[in-house]
Parts: sequence; structure tokens; C-alpha cells
Amino acid sequence: MADKIKVALNGYGTIGKRVADAVMRQDDMTLVGIAKTKPDYEAYVAAKKGYAIYAVDPAKAESKFKAAGLSIAGSNEEMIKKADIIVDCAPEGIGEENKKLYEKLKKPAMFQGGEEHEVAGVSFNAAANYDQAIGKQFVRVVSCNTTGLCRLLYALDKGFGIKKVRATMMRRGGDPNDIKRGPINAIVPDPIHLPSHHGPDVNTVMPHIKIDTVAVKLPTTLMHMHYVNMNLNKVPSREDVIATLKQYPRIWLIPPWLNIKSTADVIEFGRELGRPRNDMMENVIWEESIAVDKEGELNLFQAIHQESDVIPENIDCIRAMTGIEKDGKKSMEKTNKTMGLGNFNPWKLTL
Ligand code: NAP
Repeated sequence: MADKIKVALNGYGTIGKRVADAVMRQDDMTLVGIAKTKPDYEAYVAAKKGYAIYAVDPAKAESKFKAAGLSIAGSNEEMIKKADIIVDCAPEGIGEENKKLYEKLKKPAMFQGGEEHEVAGVSFNAAANYDQAIGKQFVRVVSCNTTGLCRLLYALDKGFGIKKVRATMMRRGGDPNDIKRGPINAIVPDPIHLPSHHGPDVNTVMPHIKIDTVAVKLPTTLMHMHYVNMNLNKVPSREDVIATLKQYPRIWLIPPWLNIKSTADVIEFGRELGRPRNDMMENVIWEESIAVDKEGELNLFQAIHQESDVIPENIDCIRAMTGIEKDGKKSMEKTNKTMGLGNFNPWKLTL
């Protein structure tokens, strides 16, 4: 095999720590290290895992890391110099700032969905537009909600052709460790001015899809829930829709007998499966919710695990940008295998 791709994680929070672990599972990638601004429990676990820790601002951070008994390998700039590609997982908006450093050091970098499309110029979903990322210097992996929508819409557009989509995103207020965000006791239209940005965001990946979206924030931390309605060009049966979705390993159809009634059950299922951090990286679609009428109008519910659904796409994006794998299908197969993702057949799942 060619040399392994050297990957650096600039930012090691909810998304960054999962991408780092996923990189460690790939035989064509190696982890240069991770960058943080300060020592904390996430830095402690990174050190326990043997990841080299680099400081975002060493002048400020060095004494803090020293006091915590954690050694740092240098500045994040030094880490970036050693890498073939950087996965920027800094907080929303900071990626745009960091881009200046990547440009200065002439390094390819991937951004996350908190950055605007224009920061990278290419927005990515593995199934929908892998080819567009091949050889690019900057690419953005779209947000958790947009990733969930793109996976679903790509499958149904390919199968039946989409005329028009209307989707409602019922969003988690914050991540489980995100104590500063709310709401605690309200439902917040976000944004009130319609439509929400999610539709235009889907269009950065799939420009031909006609889509309107709205979003509300809810007092929950576990997952997002989407209600998706669409008009299809062909008029499939419900069984045709189910058979089509089952072709995509990053889409799980949940049968009624599993008795999964809520996002809490989905996450509990992840725990029972022994998934790392109970991550449910696939779109979770309630098979019972799928309804198609005689005019080709389709309705369904899907749950999206915001902390983890973008992780397989990050791995595929590394392969596309570096050109180590030019065939998107092969990259997805490899990622699915190394991360234990697969078509949901309860009898084939290994625990
Ligand atoms: P997060 O949990 O707040 O983690 C951010 C990380 O970036 C922390 O490790 C932080 O280090 C580090 N950091 C802070 N300033 C930095 C800088 N100047 N340069 C490099 N690293 C820096 O954030 P997140 O939730 O993972 O989000 C990261 C990106 O992914 C955002 O664009 C977000 O919109 C997107 N995203 C998030 C989710 C989600 O549900 N969380 C889902 C999909 C996409 P310290 O802790 O040491 O300060």
C-alpha cells in the first residue's frame, strides 16, 4: 500500500475526538495528533489513548498543560506542518480564521458544517458528490442535519426522482455536555424567518433538489428528528421505497418489533449494541412511518445522531481530497467496514 495519509485534528471536541478515533481505525491513515486550547478530561483521555497533543496557543496553554501533568508535543502550527491533511473541528466560525494558517502553510484542510459553504467552496456528502472533493485544497463536510438529509434525498432521487421536498427539523437544543445551550423549557422556532438554512445547505451539495425546510429547537440533547415530506416523479409502492433505502448501508430502517419508540430508545439501542459512545452514525428511519400515496407523495420520520453521523463522511472526505481513493463507493465500503456500519439486519449485527 502507498504511504499512509498523515491526518491532524485541529480541534478535539464532540466531532474532533470521534474523527480522531475513526482515523485510528483506517489502515490507510495515521494520526499526527490533536490540538486543543486547554487541558481537560478530553485532553486527559486523548493522552491515555496515546494521541500527541498540540496546543492552539502554546504561550497561553503550556503552563496549564504542565500543571495538569499533560505533555504537549508543540504548537498546532507544528502539528499542521507534519500533516498531509488537516481536519478542522474547531468551534463554529473559528475554522474560517484557521483557514489563513492552512493557506500560509499550503496545506489541504477540511471544515465542518459550522462554517459557511464559501469558506471551502466545496460542500461534501460521500454518496452525493464524492468526486467533487477529489484533489481539492478545501472542502466542508456539511452539518449533521444536512448530512442526514443528503443521504436520504440522494437515495430517493436516484430511485424515483424528486420533484419537491419539504422537511421539518426538530433539533436538539445542545449536545449532552453542552450546558450553556438551551432551551430548557420551550420550543424555539429557529429561525423564525422561513425557510431555514438547511434547504440551501442541501443545495450546496445537490443543487438540483427543490427543497423548503423549517427548524425548531427542543429541550433534548440526544438526537435530531426530521419529518420529511416529498413529491416523487415516479409513483413507487411503499415496498419499493423500503427496498431502495435498504440498498444504502448508512440508512437504517427500524422495524416495529424492535419497539424503538423515541430518540431515547435509539440511543439506548446504541448502548446495547456496545457502540463506542453509543454513536448511531446511520440515519435511523422508522419503517412504520414510511407512507406513499397514489400520487407519489412520501412521508417519513428519521432520527439523526448529531454527534456522530458526520464521522464516516469525514473519513471519506480525507480519501477524496488526498486522492488516495478516487472511487467513492470503494471508500464508503472501506469506511463502513472499519467502523462497523452496515445495512440494518438485526440478525446479522455482531455484538
Ligand atoms: P466543540 O465540542 O466545542 O469542540 C471544539 C474543539 O475545538 C475543542 O477541542 C476546542 O479545544 C478546539 N478549539 C478551540 N479553539 C480552537 C482554535 N482556535 N483552533 C483549533 N481548535 C480550537 O465543537 P464541535 O461540536 O465538535 O463542533 C466542531 C464543528 O463541527 C463546528 O463547525 C460544528 O458546527 C460542527 N458540527 C457539530 C456537530 C455537533 O452536534 N456537535 C455536528 C456536526 C457538525 P478546547 O476545548 O481545548 O478549547
